[in-house]
Amino acid sequence: MPERRKVVIVGSGPAGLTAAIYAARAQLEPLVIEGEPSSTSDQPGGQLMLTTEVENYPGFVDGVMGPELMGIMREQAIRFGAELRTAKVSRLDLSSTSPFPLWLTHADSDDPAIEADALIIATGARSLMLGCPNESRLVGYGVSTCATCDGFFFRDQHIAVAGGGDSALEEALFLTRFASKVTVVHRRDELRASKIMQERAFKNPKIDFLWDSVIVDILGDSKVSGIKVQHTTSSETFELAVSGLFVAIGHEPNSALLKGQLELESNGYIRTIGKSSRTSVDGVFACGDVQDDHYRQAVTSAGSGCVAAIDAEHWLEEHGE
Ligand code: NAP
Repeated sequence: MPERRKVVIVGSGPAGLTAAIYAARAQLEPLVIEGEPSSTSDQPGGQLMLTTEVENYPGFVDGVMGPELMGIMREQAIRFGAELRTAKVSRLDLSSTSPFPLWLTHADSDDPAIEADALIIATGARSLMLGCPNESRLVGYGVSTCATCDGFFFRDQHIAVAGGGDSALEEALFLTRFASKVTVVHRRDELRASKIMQERAFKNPKIDFLWDSVIVDILGDSKVSGIKVQHTTSSETFELAVSGLFVAIGHEPNSALLKGQLELESNGYIRTIGKSSRTSVDGVFACGDVQDDHYRQAVTSAGSGCVAAIDAEHWLEEHGE
């Protein structure tokens, strides 16, 4: 028999854990399916696990490291009675009304492991990759999406960072702690990043920029030895000798599981109704980066997790809980 739960939260980033804190304090005994590590860029806790210092999360005057912040949120959720399970949802069925069956990885049987009265989706988003030849082959061998995880391995080396947003500059700035030089390769001649990050990067003597440039190939047999770069206006190509490439070109939502199950926007983000976290399926709520392609901040994710827990609580009340 599947285990019946009042509230199941899928995902354990700021949105999922904030939803868990609120649902637990509302005595709903939430179960959080927190995910499981499958690579350096995919692990419980979401994208903050791959971040260095977070300076803009309210309450931390001197900033806080991303993984530390997630550890605190996790403990806070557990303190109020949330249960966290290290597994992934492999399948779910939202075609009929609540309760919704969920299948988990590592389950012993073909039957659903859990039935959720109310379901909160907080599966977040993940890093986009360049898609150039040799990129996937060299992930973990010089290609990375996580400076916090891998920066240490590039002490006194020349590294490239792809992208022109806040993530790219944050990675570049962090990498200057280890690298002898960091080259930011950006496809346009102006950055998308916030002015404060731009100023910091321009001021840092270890960072230089290749403008109007795209990475068309990554070189190296067993590990990265360089990148092939094409200038977008002249079409000229040249090679740059680097021992690492950090890809920081944005994200896509982790919504594949939901495709065909509830309404998604054309870019794959979950469609929510008005200011609420309600989705196209009654009793299913979405919060955090899987439904927000605009703000994408830890604090807005946490706020939307709170919204989802309150929406779920009210929905359960209306349905006799
Ligand atoms: P982003 O703002 O979407 O920037 C992505 C960058 O990658 C853009 O410069 C884009 O170029 C470039 N890019 C996209 N696809 C590419 C491709 N295929 N090849 C080459 N370049 C490509 O993403 P983000 O930097 O990850 O930031 C996401 C959100 O999180 C933003 O709202 C950001 O402010 C926020 N954030 C904040 C902080 C902070 O405050 N410390 C840190 C990290 C992120 P174009 O500019 O030409 O489009």
